Amino acid sequence: MSRVYNFSAGPAALPQAVLEQARDEMLDCHGSGMSVMEMSHRGKDFMSIATKAEADLRSLMAIPDNYKVLFLQGGASSQFAMVPINLLNGKTSVDYLLTGQWSKKAIAEARRYAQVALIADTTESKFTAVPDADSLQFNPDAAYVHYTPNETIVGVEFPYVPQTGAVPLVADMSSTILSRQIDVSQFDIIYAGAQKNIGPAGLTIVIIREDLIGHAMSSMPTMMDYKTHADNGSMYNTPPTYSWYMAGLVFAQILQQGGLSAIEAMNQRKAEKLYTAIDSSDFYTNPVDVECRSWMNIPFILANAELDAGFLQQAASNGLTSLKGHRSVGGMRASIYNAMPEAGVDALIDFMQEFERTQG
Ligand code: PMP
Repeated sequence: MSRVYNFSAGPAALPQAVLEQARDEMLDCHGSGMSVMEMSHRGKDFMSIATKAEADLRSLMAIPDNYKVLFLQGGASSQFAMVPINLLNGKTSVDYLLTGQWSKKAIAEARRYAQVALIADTTESKFTAVPDADSLQFNPDAAYVHYTPNETIVGVEFPYVPQTGAVPLVADMSSTILSRQIDVSQFDIIYAGAQKNIGPAGLTIVIIREDLIGHAMSSMPTMMDYKTHADNGSMYNTPPTYSWYMAGLVFAQILQQGGLSAIEAMNQRKAEKLYTAIDSSDFYTNPVDVECRSWMNIPFILANAELDAGFLQQAASNGLTSLKGHRSVGGMRASIYNAMPEAGVDALIDFMQEFERTQG
């Protein structure tokens, strides 16, 4: 068996120990004589897996009791619609921060239901900066404020949490959840597709303040109402059981490793190493303002784009894969989520230096 260092932006690398445990439990999970994939979601075996996963996530993120945790499907992209459908509650306007391709998509969806005010728009910087915290003027009548703390494509990350006063704050944390400690009480909804820092694709986590549940537009499908899922323990219909189980294994592993403070220290170290390597070379560049560079997604451009194909090919033959940048940015992108070991970042840096020495 040979495993590569997989720098994919998502679906992304999973911790090897988690994959090994899943393998060991594949045919007979916890003495049930069956795979988790074959279990009834309402049976006691799966219920105990589901309950433990939620309890571990609550403990990891210190989620206050007045927040529900929902295990949904439909990806973060479905949340782009569910947020306005559930939060407008008779209001007509919403505030959005446009800081990259993912917030742009969230905005396009919200425009189907509400008047969207762009409180910030960093298009001109090609999304390589975030707005100054002081420049944000929120509309007190908005139903909510939405932003994307980490934009996965350009690798730009807010170094602060916007302060919105009484207006609910909604955060698309798909590519930053579990990367560090956060204070959940500063947010009203946090949502994330699982396929980066949580587990396999197919699961979407929503952490929502309880009093925001129960106000969905009545004309909308039952499945788009948070209340449907909150009232039924995320089992109104068949949930993505295997992804839920895998997420539970990831949560338990993070707890074992010392929780989010330990993960945060490791992630900061990994990102700093890679940025230092990029900044100290004349051959590689990262376009993002230093104070808002992502810890999770690190794009870098080679001095000569004609070398891109050779870089990717040689990297792959050194066991470093999925480094091709998003087509809208070009160059390379290393996504270094929690499951990327520090040794993987070291191996990438060594390879980059060697490539520069021989080809640069
Ligand atoms: N938001 C962000 C920040 C993302 O990175 C992604 C996926 N890359 C999405 C939303 C869309 O997620 P999904 O594919 O789960 O709908």
